[in-house]
Amino acid sequence: MYTLPPLTYAYNALEPFISEETLTIHHDKLHQAYTDKLNKALADYPDLAAQPIEELLIHSDTMPPAVITPLINQGGGYFNHCFLWTSITPNSTKEPVGHLKDAINQYFGDFETFKQRFKGIAIDTFGSGWTWLVKNNKGELEILSTSKQDSPLLAGFKPLMVIDVWEHAYFLDYKNLRPNYIDQWWNIVNWENAETLFNA
Ligand code: MN
Repeated sequence: MYTLPPLTYAYNALEPFISEETLTIHHDKLHQAYTDKLNKALADYPDLAAQPIEELLIHSDTMPPAVITPLINQGGGYFNHCFLWTSITPNSTKEPVGHLKDAINQYFGDFETFKQRFKGIAIDTFGSGWTWLVKNNKGELEILSTSKQDSPLLAGFKPLMVIDVWEHAYFLDYKNLRPNYIDQWWNIVNWENAETLFNA
């Protein structure tokens, strides 16, 4: 059984960048729905439901055929949102820190260039999806776009930071203006969390 992890900050703590209304609906309604549907999909597979969701997604190709599609959709939605809440914070450093800062400079030139490339990929993510900063299996940084609730774990990437570009993540606060939402994202990124994941 999977449970909805509580936020570690108040529902209004990310204002004005993410409103209390958006965060409340996104966490309490949408993420709860993915959690419930994942549990329903795995109801006949208690051994699987006892494992961390990361393990199931990393090994999705070995799952029973009846489980694979709901695992990718509902399990992906469950994991991606769990990861999202740890990827943002009201106490953002506003720029990368530590070894990750060095690596961003190494792979992208500088933070400004990284932000522009990340924004471009997030804008170009067609329809509903996510844009991620990930570490590949060679230990290199990449910016990755995923569709619907596909998780980077399915393809062997280690996620470090993410933005949810489904309209439900920004429509109440930014209407249809995804670029404005992305510009404000840098105010709430949890770079210390990303740095911890990068070093792990
Ligand atoms: Mn979402």
